[in-house]
Amino acid sequence: MPAYEYQCATCSHRFEVRQKMSDEPVSLCPQCGSGGVKRLISGGAGAISKGSSGFDAPPACGMGGCCAQGGACCGGGGCDD
Ligand SMILES: [Zn+2]
Repeated sequence: MPAYEYQCATCSHRFEVRQKMSDEPVSLCPQCGSGGVKRLISGGAGAISKGSSGFDAPPACGMGGCCAQGGACCGGGGCDD
């Protein structure tokens, strides 16, 4: 049975509920009793991923890449392709 994580929008209380996928989602906060409970996307934190290199390689000269944007790869003098 999967566990779902919920967070209350009113008191920020976070809790986990084990329930069947067919069960109704929890809507009442067990702590403050308000109905502002939202189910969090499972997977937890750390799902943010950036490219492994951190940046994309600049496009080749004459390919409409950095030259078109006045990039420095052409020595600042533009592309003479
Ligand atoms: Zn609450």
